[in-house]
Amino acid sequence: MSKRALVVVDVQNDFTEGGPFDPATAGNDAVAARIGRYTARFRGDYDVVVTTQDWHISPADHFVKHAVHCVADTVGAELDPQLSAGAGVDFLTLVDLPLRKGFYADDYSGFNAIDTAGTTLPELLQGAGVTQLDVCGFAADGCVAATVRDAAAAGFDVTLLEDLSGVFAPTTWGETVAELQSHGVKVNGSVLVDSD
Ligand SMILES: [Zn+2]
Repeated sequence: MSKRALVVVDVQNDFTEGGPFDPATAGNDAVAARIGRYTARFRGDYDVVVTTQDWHISPADHFVKHAVHCVADTVGAELDPQLSAGAGVDFLTLVDLPLRKGFYADDYSGFNAIDTAGTTLPELLQGAGVTQLDVCGFAADGCVAATVRDAAAAGFDVTLLEDLSGVFAPTTWGETVAELQSHGVKVNGSVLVDSD
């Protein structure tokens, strides 16, 4: 039987309200709480749950291209506490693989994230026998999109959970969805409904 993983991309304080990209990140605290709620409820449906974090130590010209964000070991780089608030438990107790990326360069894709031994996300997923991925987080049209593109190219059966992701540029989101679908990525809602 195929195994499933949930990949929660870059749900970090600097990508929410009050961070350096505000107001483009408005509403993301609520999305983070929703991710927490979803993960707590459906943890049993996933063989593996992964988080990625942008974790910049000295990321070359990344801070020329973007506002300074997610500097290693700062509050801005920490996971949004709304994940735990939504889950009703410490979110990290639901996570098997907390991974990081972007130490010394741009790393938009969660597929470049590594564990403390330096093993990459695709290596960890393949080692665990995972073939199906549900991906969510921030930004839907940024690092989440980069992650699902790489996942589809690597042969995973991949779904972007749209209602568990924060869009950075709403006016171009439709084009991004079409482009991702052209690569075989499914773009769906989660099974949570608004009353949940
Ligand atoms: Zn970054």
